[in-house]
Amino acid sequence: MIATKSFYPILAGACLRALACCVDAQPPASITDAFTLEHGKYQVVVDTTQAPELTDWARTELRPVIEKWYPQIVALLPGTSFEAPRRLTVIFQNDPGGPPAYTMRDRISCNIDWFKHNLRGEARGAVVHEIVHVVQHYGEPRPGGEPVPGWVVEGIADYIRWFLYEPQSHGTDIPKPAASRVHFDDSYRTTANFLDWICTTRDREFVARLNAICREGRYQESVWKTLTGKTAPELGAEWRTCNEPRGDASGVAGGFPHHQFHRMTVVSTA
Ligand SMILES: [Zn+2]
Repeated sequence: MIATKSFYPILAGACLRALACCVDAQPPASITDAFTLEHGKYQVVVDTTQAPELTDWARTELRPVIEKWYPQIVALLPGTSFEAPRRLTVIFQNDPGGPPAYTMRDRISCNIDWFKHNLRGEARGAVVHEIVHVVQHYGEPRPGGEPVPGWVVEGIADYIRWFLYEPQSHGTDIPKPAASRVHFDDSYRTTANFLDWICTTRDREFVARLNAICREGRYQESVWKTLTGKTAPELGAEWRTCNEPRGDASGVAGGFPHHQFHRMTVVSTA
């Protein structure tokens, strides 16, 4: 089970490693694919300079995903007066032992070794997850707000990846034996499953509303009750109770409509 890790917003160690690159080596010839989206509104650069063997894949397999999903994710996560970053850089870098990918502001770094071994599996979805982080664009909390918990940040990214981009993958299915042990704040796929349950049972626009509040620096633990009438732990207990009896013969708990695309629309975030 591979989780796409993301160091959000900044991992100091990654910065230090970047500074430690060898200054004596002859730099390789630059290999970049630059293109625009939405009639020039967004500029994208995909840099495979350090991984020329991934260039064809990036142009034929990854670029169409970015072209379709960057604007789509921007539309899925609206906000009052919010403008998504106009530039997006996806760069493939050597990072032995590092995470598959991570995001710093509008720059997505992809681990060459991990991607080479996952081109037919999770590679494209991992970039979609990171694109969500670019669009989330969370800043510091306003006075009275709280830092957005990491499990919320990652849960929203995995919700969009697994339920909207690749629902056919069933990437958040919970094995039946684990149904009684999962927690809503386990982050990544598990929180994505929890968020989908809220969208399915209460409010299809819940993720968009939650994201807007996070981006505006207004996240508080009480936001769950404000939006749904119940606290996060109360919702989590109900979600888990629903999971257990819905486990089916396939051994997968939670009969959520994973195949179903949620028709999220732009909502007022005022
Ligand atoms: Zn992430």
